Amino acid sequence: MNAPRIEQPRPVRKVVVLGGGSAGLLAALTLRRRLPHLEVTVLRSPGIGIIGVGEGTAIGFVTHLFDYLKIDPNAFYREAEPTWKLGLRFIWGRRTQPFYYSFGQEFASQWKGMARPVGFYCDGQPSLANIGPFSALMDADRVFAQRPDSQPNIHRYYSYHLENRKLVGWLESACRAEGVGFMEATITEVATDEQGVKALHAEDGRKIKADLYVDASGFRSELLGKALGVPFVSYSDALYCDRAVVGGWERTDEPVHPYTTCETMDAGWCWQIEHETKINRGYVFSSGFMSDEQAEAEFRAANPKITGETRVVRFRSGRFERIWEKNVVGIGNASGFVEPLEATALQLIGLEARTIADVLADSAGRVTPSLKKQFNRFNATNWDDIRDFLALHYRFNELRDTEFWRHCRSNSPLGRAAEAVELYQENGPVLSAMEAAIPPDGQFGLQGYLALLVGMGVPHAGQHRVTPDERKVWEQGQDHYRQAAQAGMTVVESLNAIREHGVPA
Ligand SMILES: Cc1cc2nc3c(=O)[nH]c(=O)nc-3n(C[C@H](O)[C@H](O)[C@H](O)COP(=O)(O)OP(=O)(O)OC[C@H]3O[C@@H](n4cnc5c(N)ncnc54)[C@H](O)[C@@H]3O)c2cc1C
Repeated sequence: MNAPRIEQPRPVRKVVVLGGGSAGLLAALTLRRRLPHLEVTVLRSPGIGIIGVGEGTAIGFVTHLFDYLKIDPNAFYREAEPTWKLGLRFIWGRRTQPFYYSFGQEFASQWKGMARPVGFYCDGQPSLANIGPFSALMDADRVFAQRPDSQPNIHRYYSYHLENRKLVGWLESACRAEGVGFMEATITEVATDEQGVKALHAEDGRKIKADLYVDASGFRSELLGKALGVPFVSYSDALYCDRAVVGGWERTDEPVHPYTTCETMDAGWCWQIEHETKINRGYVFSSGFMSDEQAEAEFRAANPKITGETRVVRFRSGRFERIWEKNVVGIGNASGFVEPLEATALQLIGLEARTIADVLADSAGRVTPSLKKQFNRFNATNWDDIRDFLALHYRFNELRDTEFWRHCRSNSPLGRAAEAVELYQENGPVLSAMEAAIPPDGQFGLQGYLALLVGMGVPHAGQHRVTPDERKVWEQGQDHYRQAAQAGMTVVESLNAIREHGVPA
């Protein structure tokens, strides 16, 4: 049988990335490393600048850097100056004490000698600080075990805290080393035709053309949103926060915690991100329930160490209906953003960059409508899954009884997370059925769902009478994790060790 005669698009050889924030630079780096024959230029406006937030990451970002791009870890640590993050510490839910959501599989496990999965033994237990090695490390302010040669034993279950400007600085030097071109220009007009973008017109009169335009222009979404008019799918009916007051202070004697703190506030929540010499705080709130001035006052009262300037960052939660449209593909805030909770954006930027590079490689640069359709479906599902998982946080947080939280508890729709919640409420923290109920290939997996449901103390009808033998195993196990964690290395000790000896193999 003859193959159907379908007109093939012209191959992509020249790519212009509009935007030099973390999304544009990571896209450019990924494209050049995967497809060295492509001509890639980053175009950015010195006048507009970068957003300067986006400092917590998830594990997929690390995988992208080291497994997919195979970048040199020593250069990364030297220039980007990250600190490690093993997960999140939530002051959230119904428990009297915070809980940890670690990147390691802790809630999604079953101990030897125990009849049921871990979550069943957490019922009625106020502290979940030592239910696994990673929670225990976080609780002890340690990040890695120490090897016999005194080096940190770097496991796989970490991500980073990164100062946005340092990350962008490192990305730029990595891009330059890879042969990415740079152009400073502010685009004031975009010429379009039936193929999509025809040319970008800069303020200084230059005209820039490419086969493929990567829109990484941040929330301005100059190409996807403004020039091509792709519809925006708002998540404002599910997630109500739309602003953040951001501030911080220079670190003095505070320990560098190996986690992001997420703390309930009156009209939202507050992050604490740990840099080596700075502490960064941000109050994510809903302008429908609080003014900027009220949020600023609550933020400062909760963080008296902030004496300097703060700034309010506005965002909209949602995604574009299609992020690969004609000859434009969007990435980063230009394509969508959910909200900072769980710090998913950089991980998703890595995934999007990789998928764009893979699509171009697989198709030899001839990206057909059916490839774009699959790409768009994949991305839409990723964004929607994040929305649903985040809605879970809002639906079940009972720590404060304010108008905002009452609204969230009554209204946050769970979307595709609803089945997992129903299963949990009927059966408790079971494993295999829960695996089947959560959205497949989502960003959070079984550990994420169980960490949130069990961690927040969402009530369930599943019962388990703990036997004396099980209680003994449970207590001994937690003691073991606590002691092992206390013998571990702190973030600062580990950073000093890799600065002196390099990143251990
Ligand atoms: C409050 C808040 C907290 C966040 N926290 C996190 C977090 O903890 N973790 C996380 O992963 N993500 C977080 N994010 C998302 C974060 O912003 C992104 O992950 C990341 O910074 C990507 O930004 P960007 O590159 O898309 O946009 P930007 O940094 O805004 O870059 C846009 C680029 O486009 C250029 N540009 C725009 N218009 C033009 C034009 N007309 N001509 C020329 N150039 C132009 C600009 O000059 C700039 O270089 C947060 C976002 C917000 C709002």
